[in-house]
Amino acid sequence: MDLTDFGAGAQYIAGRCSRGDGDPFQVVNPADGSVVEEVALASTGQVDEAVAAARAALPQWSGATPGARSEALTRLAAVLTDAAADLARVETAQTGKPIKLSTEFDVPGTIDNTAFFAGAARHLEGKAAGEYSGDHTSYVRREAIGVVGSVSPWNYPLQMAAWKVLPAIAAGNTVVLKPAELTPLTSLMFARACTLAGIPDGVVNVVTGAGRVAGEHLVAHPDVAMVSFTGSTAVGRRVAELATSTVKRTHLELGGKAPFVVFDDADLDAAVHGAVAASLINGGQDCTAATRAYVQRPLYDAFVAGVAELYGAIRLGDPLDPRTDLGPLVSFTHRDRVAGFVERARGYATVVTGGAAPDRGHDGSDLTRGAYYRPTLITGAAQDSEVVQGEIFGPVLVVLPFDSDDEGLRLANDTPYGLAASAWTGNVHRSLRATREIAAGCVWVNDHIPIISEMPHGGYKSSGYGKDMSQYSLDEYTQVKHVMFDTTAVARKDWHRTVFGDR
Ligand code: NAD
Repeated sequence: MDLTDFGAGAQYIAGRCSRGDGDPFQVVNPADGSVVEEVALASTGQVDEAVAAARAALPQWSGATPGARSEALTRLAAVLTDAAADLARVETAQTGKPIKLSTEFDVPGTIDNTAFFAGAARHLEGKAAGEYSGDHTSYVRREAIGVVGSVSPWNYPLQMAAWKVLPAIAAGNTVVLKPAELTPLTSLMFARACTLAGIPDGVVNVVTGAGRVAGEHLVAHPDVAMVSFTGSTAVGRRVAELATSTVKRTHLELGGKAPFVVFDDADLDAAVHGAVAASLINGGQDCTAATRAYVQRPLYDAFVAGVAELYGAIRLGDPLDPRTDLGPLVSFTHRDRVAGFVERARGYATVVTGGAAPDRGHDGSDLTRGAYYRPTLITGAAQDSEVVQGEIFGPVLVVLPFDSDDEGLRLANDTPYGLAASAWTGNVHRSLRATREIAAGCVWVNDHIPIISEMPHGGYKSSGYGKDMSQYSLDEYTQVKHVMFDTTAVARKDWHRTVFGDR
């Protein structure tokens, strides 16, 4: 099966491609505005079909042994490995991310995740069986929840699809995934790879539709037992409301505004290079990207100068060119949204570098047809200003000074978000304090961005709750049942006297 043959349509239901019944939609390459694929969005009826397919597949899949599910995921890792080059090319075409990122991060990360969950499927954990009451033997079953409705964003389409689907199916659930309408193609490829790996029809279904139509219908669907969502905090609230009305379990991975705290003993060169990489990864369209650098006063000027210099050397260009550091943002609309933050900031802060769409790439190529935006460094913004508090989701870093350690840590915690953060220092006490006091689901020390399959990813505060990746995510996608056996074989049990009669 050619994973890139989307000819039959953009829905993947019960192991088959079909055309959407909804509105036509063009998947656009933001590097030049060309159409990558014409698709038709899913209707609510097709969401119903996908949920029915997932429901029908549930008894067999949840009843399969962990070993059988593990083998299927091992085969999936092999299929994805064979398709790695195609996956990277399509991911870059639909998002505009540099091919070196797709090739070295998105695709191998997804394959590693698949291999991890192939192993994790066989390691569901629970309390030991035992006689906790003296008159009973208790044990715990960790069971699949049912049909999981997953909704994913456009920034890392393949990885986000994998983060949602893999732990769910490793634990025996079946899934209907609704990827972001801008970037459905690698999620469809992932679902087709599942079929190629021998995962039964209906275990993984993809409906590519509009958030308000297919997304809301999926989240509210009475046959969906759990909703897992990755996206903005605003939409996450709406998803939670819809899911609450039918008492579904929810898993929400939402927005971020990661602080990057540089103490005065930090290795300045490491902090500058780290800030540039962590703020520009994926064009800054990364929920954990460094967005607010707080730099202790003695290092502040040198840090700003160092970042500005490296920003100036970033190679913007065709994302398929392996030398390109920064491609376009995901869409023209999103580029204009990012530019809007910067334009408004000019009224109250200083744009040190960037703040404009480039005309020419690093090789002289014309970039005016793409959704490009220069790396942008802002200083002089107040802590309560929009660029410091709001999620810009673009190649924009705001730098603010601080004096005492107390102040730096207080400012780091001073947004509604709490997804990720980093502390830069050579002092063990400072780093321990920062990792303890910063309220975020991940705190790096002297680095910012790396993730690994074995460790959990997820937010605090308005960044949501629930963990992706790692053994912790299997807990999210399973429910725990207590089974209690009487061991006495006594008809008139001692405890009955608390309800009737005497001893
Ligand atoms: P978004 O919230 O606009 O959309 C996310 C998904 O929700 C899309 O599939 C969209 O179609 C769907 N959707 C939109 N409205 C809906 C509705 N009313 N009901 C159901 N579904 C609906 O987010 P985005 O712009 O695609 O992605 C960027 C956001 O995702 C950022 O806020 C970023 O921080 C966040 N994100 C978070 C993580 C994390 O792990 N916490 C990871 C990646 C991205």
